Amino acid sequence: MELDRKSFLLGASAALILPAQIAEARTSPIFQLPESSTKRFAWTVDDGVSNTAVKRYLDIVEKTGQHLTLFVTSSYPSWRKNKSQILELLEQGKIQLGNHTLSHRDLSTSSDGIVRNQLQQCHEFLLETYNYDARPYFRPTYGYWTKHLIKLAAELGYTVPVMWHGTLGDGYNRSTKTTMELAHKWVSNRRIVIDHANVPKSQTELLEVVKLIQKRGMKSVTLREAFGKNYR
Ligand SMILES: [Zn+2]
Repeated sequence: MELDRKSFLLGASAALILPAQIAEARTSPIFQLPESSTKRFAWTVDDGVSNTAVKRYLDIVEKTGQHLTLFVTSSYPSWRKNKSQILELLEQGKIQLGNHTLSHRDLSTSSDGIVRNQLQQCHEFLLETYNYDARPYFRPTYGYWTKHLIKLAAELGYTVPVMWHGTLGDGYNRSTKTTMELAHKWVSNRRIVIDHANVPKSQTELLEVVKLIQKRGMKSVTLREAFGKNYR
């Protein structure tokens, strides 16, 4: 009996010694930026239901020098309609694109085949439209993630699931007052803040947010800028 128990324990501890690659594989998403000597955060914008909303964010990047990461749901036409401006800003390194699936299915409850297809189709859209490889960054739809989803996405090269710590609103039932309350609460050092290009915020409203960012001595950077080019 005692011998059996000993050999079981030996087996258990041996199993903890994994090849380095497996031991280092990511099992949870990122929620914040790494430390740096400057005060910075990541303003991330999802979906793209509204063409006007996407355009407003691109204009804000042009006008103010704040850098954005856009998590593209590729079936929305806004990502085609704003192509030339997006290409320009990509070339200037002022925006980053991430994978936010083809049609916003809940990946946490979808079959493996659907998960692969949703990520792959968005990936191919970004490659074909912008000659842009969004890997390794993706954002799970609705923020729903499982370890299994992380593993499936990693097999496609999407090894960095991006969550958030703070929001500027989901785009619905919003007002400038609530946007500013959220900005006051969440815009601070190392945060990843989520925003949505679904119901347009006015340019004045977005400029108010930028003013607050500047007043706090901060800057929004893309995830690639924060984590470095070779981050996986
Ligand atoms: Zn979304």
